[in-house]
Amino acid sequence: MKVGVLALQGSVAEHLKLITSVNKKIEAVPVRTVDELASVDGLIIPGGESTTLRKLIDEFDLFTPIKVRVEAGMPVWGTCAGLILLANKIEGERPYFSLLDVDVVRNAYGRQINSFVAEGDFADMYINMVFIRAPKITRVGGNVEVLGVHDGVPVAVRQGHILATAFHPEVVSRDNRVHKYFLSMIESKE
Ligand code: GLN
Repeated sequence: MKVGVLALQGSVAEHLKLITSVNKKIEAVPVRTVDELASVDGLIIPGGESTTLRKLIDEFDLFTPIKVRVEAGMPVWGTCAGLILLANKIEGERPYFSLLDVDVVRNAYGRQINSFVAEGDFADMYINMVFIRAPKITRVGGNVEVLGVHDGVPVAVRQGHILATAFHPEVVSRDNRVHKYFLSMIESKE
């Protein structure tokens, strides 16, 4: 199995490290080109700055190739800015990939200084959730499963082969369980 992390901006190295920590036989590679994208079985769109990321994805001609592969069933996981890019609706902005039936509000928890760590449920696990200028999910479509909630707000959702988290599991470097969960989504596709 080969897993890619979109490596244009944001937390890339942390994701790569955590993927291989689940299983050394899994190849984890940065993705910057169409050929690299074609070679992976699943893709992580990391957190960072969604405005920058969308510009870079356009510039690297990766918008259509990513959209087409996800529509064809490639598992994808968007964290934070990645969630924003996947959402069907972004308050005050035009949506980007429109692949995930949720609405989001960017920077809804406040400024950088209001970033925080919380504990909460993710699927059947109890994990640490690091929120860094996170988006808030304000609506969840009927075919979207809520995997995690913080303060009554969904923070982890899944729509079939599409996973999205408002928080950053890659920051908690000793805990690879959310990565393990995503890898099992890829495995079940193969
Ligand atoms: N605030 C960023 C944005 O709106 C997301 C932050 C993050 O990915 N940690 O794009």
